[in-house]
Amino acid sequence: MSNAGEARRRLGVVTRYKGHVAAFSPAFWEVKDVGGAWTVQPPGAIPMVSCFGDNRLGKAHPEWIQVDAAGTPATRQSRYFDWTALCPSQPAVRAQAVAWVERALKDGGGDDLRLDDVTFARQGYCHCRACRDGMAAAGLDWATYRQETLTAFVREVRRLVPGRLYLTLYPDPYPGHLEDRFGLDVDQLKGLVDGFITPVYDLAYATTYWVEDIAHGFRDRLGGALWMVELYGLDVPEAALGRALEVAAFYADQVLVAYDRDLDKLRRLEARLEGK
Ligand SMILES: [Zn+2]
Repeated sequence: MSNAGEARRRLGVVTRYKGHVAAFSPAFWEVKDVGGAWTVQPPGAIPMVSCFGDNRLGKAHPEWIQVDAAGTPATRQSRYFDWTALCPSQPAVRAQAVAWVERALKDGGGDDLRLDDVTFARQGYCHCRACRDGMAAAGLDWATYRQETLTAFVREVRRLVPGRLYLTLYPDPYPGHLEDRFGLDVDQLKGLVDGFITPVYDLAYATTYWVEDIAHGFRDRLGGALWMVELYGLDVPEAALGRALEVAAFYADQVLVAYDRDLDKLRRLEARLEGK
């Protein structure tokens, strides 16, 4: 279901500032980040949980890290990844992710939740023992097994979330890429979540054609599902960010600005989107 119209004109945020939560809707709050830190969300904020990205747990449990066919772990040290990717096939990893979801709902007292980093690291991951055994037991090919594994996780979380459930997607709308690279069966996931969010980050937004290409691609790809584009805000020049927001807002149901600390700037950007 699409909430274009009124929702499109309002600015949402991903924030670390309590004072921003009441000012914008929706306001997402990273309760569990890829570093492994936990920060309870203030009332009214929607918690974001990084499910399978966790540097701290990767260090404590290297056997939980995703590996490629050559055994190369999905870490910042060994590959180009930005953080350590844990394997969703491993029962302990999955149980931990579910426990984080339960804690986020309990601590904050809200009904809504956003899942982050529900993904295999990239194409080629994962070939750990749990994945190989799970694939054999399920009698599935590797690509299908990966997608079924993540769909099953989202389905499990869906049962725990009484309100709206959002899922972050990597900004690659090219047909088949979310499925093949990250193990996300978007068509199945559409039936499980209430909305998708795509971070499209840059530090300057000096050009916007690529923001438009990605946003346009996702509008075609997600076809009617609610989805938001999330742009990076911290220290990004306001005029450039405003232009990029307008481009994204043309295609998305809603736009978000992430991590900007400047409340006045965010209010001016919202007014710009509203045409004031
Ligand atoms: Zn694995």
